[in-house]
Amino acid sequence: MKNGYETSLDLIEIDVTFKCNLMCYNCDRSCRQAPEERHMSTEQIGKFLEETQKKNRSWKRIRILGGEPYLHPEIHEIMRMLAEYKSENRDTVVEIVTNGYGPEVNKAIKNTPTDIIIKNTKKVSQYNKKFEPFNIAPVDKKEYLSSDYTKACWITEECGMGLNPYGYYQCGVAGSIDRVFGFDIGLKKMPDEQQQLTPLKKKLCAYCGHFLNQKFIPPEARKPLIGEPQTRSWKMAYSNYKKQKPSMTVYL
Ligand code: SF4
Ligand code: SF4
Repeated sequence: MKNGYETSLDLIEIDVTFKCNLMCYNCDRSCRQAPEERHMSTEQIGKFLEETQKKNRSWKRIRILGGEPYLHPEIHEIMRMLAEYKSENRDTVVEIVTNGYGPEVNKAIKNTPTDIIIKNTKKVSQYNKKFEPFNIAPVDKKEYLSSDYTKACWITEECGMGLNPYGYYQCGVAGSIDRVFGFDIGLKKMPDEQQQLTPLKKKLCAYCGHFLNQKFIPPEARKPLIGEPQTRSWKMAYSNYKKQKPSMTVYL
């Protein structure tokens, strides 16, 4: 196994909303387990583009997702902004990932600018047996207790950084762990170096079920996932979330 994964700083996933119409079990954005209808504002997307320009960053790929991104009330404006960026940065791949579920989503898909690639996962049910058990926190398992969580996993390398209403993270998944636990450690400025993400990995990968395998396991090689296993830390975090949603500072 590799001795840790670096975050690809030229790839980013933007979780524009946590609203979803499918509510899958084991969702690694906790859309079902800890629902939240918070969306990123167009001002926040504008700030991301402004930072990109000021820092002269060039993106290999910008991926729009969520939640279900087509349920964002201003998704067409967000896609217009990113398509405009793409028109001036031809080498950047701009993608939107959708579950392709239901009439509202399928209607909105039709108005996607041609420059944006649609990745349609065509989900048909909340039960996805090939998901990984996201809510198994390594920190709750004796054999992982003293792990070096800064080693992260393949997702930070393959998918790159995450951005959500609360800031930048080592990956999109980490951003959703933070919004449920309420550590409020999202970076409010675009990170330029690996080291800026190290404290986030140390804290958030400790709760992430993807850390258990670290490397990518092809779906066909995974054990079918039954139900929604949750370890102690997650049970407690969801129960606290239900009582009172953590107060988080926003990116802006
Ligand atoms: S469709 Fe995706 S975002 Fe929505 S609940 Fe399922 S896994 Fe989560
Ligand atoms: S272990 Fe989880 S939080 Fe950490 S990099 Fe991987 S997906 Fe992100």
